[in-house]
Amino acid sequence: MNKPTNVLSEPPIFLHDVVIAKSGEGQCDCACVATVPLTQTPTAVPPHTPYTLTQSFATIPVNEQYQAIVSSRITGVVINDSALALARHFTQARPLADIPADWRRDWGQTAVQNTLDQFIAHNLLVPATAPQEPLEEAATTLSAWLHITDRCNLRCDYCYLPHKREDLSWENGRAALEGTFRSAVTHGYQTVKIKYAGGEPLLRFPFVAELHHYAQTLAQQHGLALDGVILSNGTRLTADIITAIQALGLRLMISLDGLDEAHDSQRVYANGRGSFAEVARSIDLALNLGLIPDISITVSGRSAAGLADLLTWILQRSLPFSLNFYRENDLSASRASLRLEEEQIIAGMEAAFAAIEADLPQRSLLASLVDRANLSTPHQRTCGVGHSYLVFDHQGRVSKCQMHQEQTVATVQAEDPLALIRADQIGIQNLPAAEKEGCRDCQWQTWCAGGCPLATYRATGRYDIQSPNCTIYKTLYPQAVRLEGLRVLQQCS
Ligand code: SF4
Ligand code: SF4
Repeated sequence: MNKPTNVLSEPPIFLHDVVIAKSGEGQCDCACVATVPLTQTPTAVPPHTPYTLTQSFATIPVNEQYQAIVSSRITGVVINDSALALARHFTQARPLADIPADWRRDWGQTAVQNTLDQFIAHNLLVPATAPQEPLEEAATTLSAWLHITDRCNLRCDYCYLPHKREDLSWENGRAALEGTFRSAVTHGYQTVKIKYAGGEPLLRFPFVAELHHYAQTLAQQHGLALDGVILSNGTRLTADIITAIQALGLRLMISLDGLDEAHDSQRVYANGRGSFAEVARSIDLALNLGLIPDISITVSGRSAAGLADLLTWILQRSLPFSLNFYRENDLSASRASLRLEEEQIIAGMEAAFAAIEADLPQRSLLASLVDRANLSTPHQRTCGVGHSYLVFDHQGRVSKCQMHQEQTVATVQAEDPLALIRADQIGIQNLPAAEKEGCRDCQWQTWCAGGCPLATYRATGRYDIQSPNCTIYKTLYPQAVRLEGLRVLQQCS
């Protein structure tokens, strides 16, 4: 038996904020990723079975005493030096009982066993003879985007919509909901999530309320859970609408890209006036009335420098948020100052991370910090496009992604719109990260999944290759994991 070379007096500590597993999916303007269970149910293995440390085990220093673990299956776990020594003891396969006697004596048998149990439950220690099972994604939620209107009172510089003066009709809205529930039942989903979007959906709030009433009826009829969120620019919110949103059990996501000029540099009314003042007032009104909106931040070349100030403002209000990268489209391509210059974006994001470190929130940060990466649940696809996501436009046509609505796959009358979305070979191909050049051997594969397939295709003409933002991602992911490690330490202390 190997004798440990270092003396570690403190018992092993394994800290995991279990709330993370339930709060991993933040609100965003995209399709949710499929999730996999974060822990495994222990299966009976014969005594004396040798265990080994998973090959993907890596650590990132959080502070002088603690390390954050990153494996292909788990992040958000913080361990101390003793737990790290215990983990590394299994670099060489050995039975669980093969622990140095002085560790058992100094740390106590219970602490040793509890830590080993945690390592096994989180797939960090695996039976040496059994290869690790491939990830089995299980999307239990079918998400649908309802394009309530193509109209909007803003003209944001990165918007991909033509802003036609056209609305979703009641007939098409009703048929879209019915088609979504039919597909949800056919494909065994447990939850339907409706995104009421546009355009600006609050231009038609009574219509949204009517649709959501109908969605509630359908959910009850089919025995499915229902989740609904309004994606708004935040300029049309009133106390009456807030009260109605609460009564309907809806959630609200508001776009806010900076404070004052930083926001106004890219989110303006049709007459060119900035929208920050109204948006900030709406957010504070919602908070005063007890509705907590999710804040969606679009990070662009213009907004990056103001992110730190914005995050300070958001954290003062304890708001949930997500940082999403600008995605170029045909209508925005001529605006060069929006582009994601690597150094500029990294500097802005690092300043934002420093602001977060100064005021760590109670909520998990793992799904919020870096664009489409979800560091809270391992997954192979960046989003649900082509698998668990339906986009209904205002004319009742079905497409795969809200940013690619011109590529239609079906109409609202389809018996099973999801089957047609899944069968489509022409539009966006949302490949697993393991099939993408550059991603296949990447440490971050199961957290990043290669980035937005649409953005990658626009930049490279390919779906089977890593994101054009890969350098930014690889620079920021370790910092995001460290930040979450600090948060976990704060929550657990
Ligand atoms: S895009 Fe880059 S960081 Fe993301 S999985 Fe692919 S190689 Fe890794
Ligand atoms: S393809 Fe890109 S833009 Fe479309 S839902 Fe997925 S991540 Fe979002």
